[in-house]
Amino acid sequence: MRMDNERESANLEDRRGGGYGGGGGRGISIGGAGGIGGLGLVAVVIISLLFGVDPSTILGGLEGGGAPSPGYQQQQARGPAPPQEDASARFVSRVLASTEDVWTAEFQRQGRQYAAPRLVLFSGAVQSGCGAAQSAMGPFYCPNDRRVYLDLSFFREMSQRLGAPGDFAQAYVVAHEVGHHVQNLLGILGRNQQAQQANQRDANAISVRTELMADCFAGYWARRADEMRQILEQGDIEEGMGAAAAVGDDRLQSRSGRGQVVPETFTHGSSAQRVQSFKTGMAAQDPGACINRR
Ligand SMILES: [Zn+2]
Repeated sequence: MRMDNERESANLEDRRGGGYGGGGGRGISIGGAGGIGGLGLVAVVIISLLFGVDPSTILGGLEGGGAPSPGYQQQQARGPAPPQEDASARFVSRVLASTEDVWTAEFQRQGRQYAAPRLVLFSGAVQSGCGAAQSAMGPFYCPNDRRVYLDLSFFREMSQRLGAPGDFAQAYVVAHEVGHHVQNLLGILGRNQQAQQANQRDANAISVRTELMADCFAGYWARRADEMRQILEQGDIEEGMGAAAAVGDDRLQSRSGRGQVVPETFTHGSSAQRVQSFKTGMAAQDPGACINRR
């Protein structure tokens, strides 16, 4: 991607340990000694929440379980973020700014006003309007406080463990979460969450629909952003599709070690569905194409 000359967003909140703006940066994070040891558990949690909307229900379940799992331990607040993370933070800020430009124009075209979300960078753990969250749960959007939460270490996870490297793969993550914010502004998120509560049997299917729509919005952002600012380079779209495939429920389930893929338990959609949704968004003339697709 060509992002170095793009503007940064004013809606980035840095709550990483040692950063300014503190408050949430106090860290419970994955314990040092074992490192790899706890990852089995971590992987399961990632599966349930990767690119999630609102962790509060699942967090509720975890909190009911009593003591924190042995994979976690208290850690001292970290020092200033390492330099490569700051380049990464700036990149995220520029992608966020680009989503603001695209969605502001899009809402305007529909005679509406776009209220941009804030994006919180954190390390280890964070307090959100949807409850406490750990970075192992992956990035998420909280509709209660209209914030996207992201630990930059997730990008390392994507690149090294999920096999989805590249800057556009990262941009896709941000654009997907912003997609949930767009759903929130349009009233879709609230409606879908109500429907899920009213009908437990269809809850997973509704979740998949919600997630695929966010993937589609991410594709739409990519195309419009490129039309506005020519930010895409050769290979970027492939990276985005690789990322969409890497976080498909079937791919994640088969990676989780149990070697079993159970479509009824999908909450985000299969790799093929996620790639297809992203492509649909890329090709769409109007984001309505993402909302009305089945
Ligand atoms: Zn999502």
